[in-house]
Amino acid sequence: MGRKTGEMLHLRGNALTKGEPVALPLTQSSMFHLPGAPDGHDFYGRVNNPTWEHLEQVLAHLEDAPCLAFPSGMAAISAALFATVKAGSRILIPSDGYYVTRVLADRFLSGLGVIVTERPTTAFSEGGFDGIDVVFVESPSNPGLDMMDLPAIASSVRAAGGITIADNTTMTPLGQRPLDMGVDIVVSSDTKAMGGHSDLLMGHVASRNTDVMERVEEWRRVSGAIPGPHEAWLLHRGLETLDVRFDRMCSSAQVLAERLAAHLAVKDIRYPGLPSDPSYTLAQAQTTRFGFLLSITLETQAKAETFINTCPMLRPATSFGGVHSSAERRARWGDDVDPAFVRLSVGCEPVVELWQAIDASLNAL
Ligand SMILES: *Cc1c(COP(=O)(O)O)cnc(C)c1O
Repeated sequence: MGRKTGEMLHLRGNALTKGEPVALPLTQSSMFHLPGAPDGHDFYGRVNNPTWEHLEQVLAHLEDAPCLAFPSGMAAISAALFATVKAGSRILIPSDGYYVTRVLADRFLSGLGVIVTERPTTAFSEGGFDGIDVVFVESPSNPGLDMMDLPAIASSVRAAGGITIADNTTMTPLGQRPLDMGVDIVVSSDTKAMGGHSDLLMGHVASRNTDVMERVEEWRRVSGAIPGPHEAWLLHRGLETLDVRFDRMCSSAQVLAERLAAHLAVKDIRYPGLPSDPSYTLAQAQTTRFGFLLSITLETQAKAETFINTCPMLRPATSFGGVHSSAERRARWGDDVDPAFVRLSVGCEPVVELWQAIDASLNAL
């Protein structure tokens, strides 16, 4: 598996000259030595930084498309939207995707004259895409894990004259490749599995459309939404182990999902890798792995809380994609889910230990 992650690990090494460090140096500088004409040199920390530039080469290798790094997933999503909409534009977003994207659209874009429409993931194509300028998709959706037919949607949107932006946070470029399915722009929160250690916030935008990437770069430069060099360095370090982490996390999620599906304390389960799951067919067609997120619904809210707070191998925390497995009740943030619905992010613990801890905690409820 992996998007040539071996080649990725040697991108820097193969361009080194004798005596240079093998590990990526962290360049923490706002100023660059710049006598005379500035042309072609790094000149100011809001515009260039060698640490992000190398990170962007690695991201571009994974995405197989030019990439720009941002200080968070929301900064990347904002950049992609501000680069593509203007007053009078119509945008369509999922009503059950990551909620902050909806807040951005409702509270800021609509105030600037952008017309925002929402549809649920499972009925996203109903009504077609005529007259819509920007279609924002998220598949699988967070937290519901419903999926959309990305190639069909991307081609209908293109035929109607619009562009598609896909939030690929939950799958990473190793698990799903929206650009290869006809999507125009990928956005990602690299705070999650890409960074993988729950110690940074970052994001990126990827696109093979040169005009779009020029606008996104200009947005970053003038809005000032730039990544800190240290975060860029940490994300680069995280990406070096993405392949092994993602592999372990997805394999463990499959094992856990099968066992949880058979557990008496579990009323309902969603995992795209279970043949009985509503997302299974689309996941088989569109993803190379079934992911590391699953959700279970227990009997009551109280049992869900006890499970999350007492299982010694689950961090009760929001966010996901870290090496430490984590869980939370999404209803506490107002997501439209059952009060006993628990989103579980499977980490890198050996699956035997992880299952023992989860099984024991469920049995003790
Ligand atoms: C977390 C998340 C974001 C936002 O990313 P931040 O790094 O927290 O800004 C966007 N989309 C999805 C699907 C996410 O899970």
